[in-house]
Amino acid sequence: MTESKYILAGKTLEELEEFVQINNEPKFRAKQLHYWLYKNCVKTFDEMTNLSKGFRNKLKDIAVISANTIKQRFISKDGTIRYLIELADQTVIETVLMRFDHRPNLTACVSSQIGCPVGCIFCATGKMGFIRNLTASEIADQILTIQRDTGLEVTNVVYMGQGEPLLNFDEVAKSIKIITKELEIGNRRITISTSGIIPGIHKLAEENRQLTLALSLHAPNHELRQQLIPIEKKYPLDELVKALHALTHKTGRRVTIEYTLIKDVNDDLKLAKEMNYLLKGLNYNVNLIPYNPTSNDKYQAPSQKRINEFRYILEQSGKKVTVRLERGSDINAACGQLSAQLSTD
Ligand code: SF4
Repeated sequence: MTESKYILAGKTLEELEEFVQINNEPKFRAKQLHYWLYKNCVKTFDEMTNLSKGFRNKLKDIAVISANTIKQRFISKDGTIRYLIELADQTVIETVLMRFDHRPNLTACVSSQIGCPVGCIFCATGKMGFIRNLTASEIADQILTIQRDTGLEVTNVVYMGQGEPLLNFDEVAKSIKIITKELEIGNRRITISTSGIIPGIHKLAEENRQLTLALSLHAPNHELRQQLIPIEKKYPLDELVKALHALTHKTGRRVTIEYTLIKDVNDDLKLAKEMNYLLKGLNYNVNLIPYNPTSNDKYQAPSQKRINEFRYILEQSGKKVTVRLERGSDINAACGQLSAQLSTD
């Protein structure tokens, strides 16, 4: 039973200090717990060898290291691991660990909500609808769950799993504090992906952190974009681009423009020219993402020739354009494929 027990993973040092003091233990115990949770990522209290046996037994009665249960784990041939993780309330989220050849980085792709209210037409998560926001601890514990499972150290974090992070701003902002302070992953190694929630972009500018914002643009005009991303009706593109300018001026950071290329939907070369015009004067680079069809999908990726042509036109802006190397598409871990469905495979 974890429901009535205190969950330690994902808590700040201050919260751990409160926990030990409420339980009549000296304050230094919090630092010891912090060490085992964040530096050693142990799975059991018995591994916390510098704690007295009495305290370890007490912990077993009142706390759990984590309430997360890995329900399923899919390993791609490219090394990507997709996790289905059950939380304390039996809801299930997805978290992905991506590795890149020839690079030491290990990137955790975390979820910020269960389901998503934005409903982008090509996204498996969007089709689930919205269930609830995740807490900051639940977001941070996704990284710790990976570390406990693999024994490896995550070096980068992207908020590109399920959910729209900027619609859960307060918990996401708190989770970033936990990730930078307790897990010691620097701001520059964190990317927040948004569909374009303007108030959230302004709040992020106020936080003035050196992290990267990735905007899922997917269309360079209001008419087409509102067909793909319904939130465009509420937060139109002209206002959104102004918010991006304000953010880059404040933080000095370049934004990443994500553009999922879908055959016959948004791959017309005129749109590439329109995009260059729309983003003129902005500090940005572009990630082109050829669409990843899910099973029985009505959308397809464009041909390689069309991807190259689209890229060539975007490069005329003088900005860096990369075609994203997809990770884990054979295990449904690629962008837009996360639907937290338990598999019977
Ligand atoms: S693409 Fe992102 S914002 Fe859009 S529905 Fe999917 S999870 Fe939500």
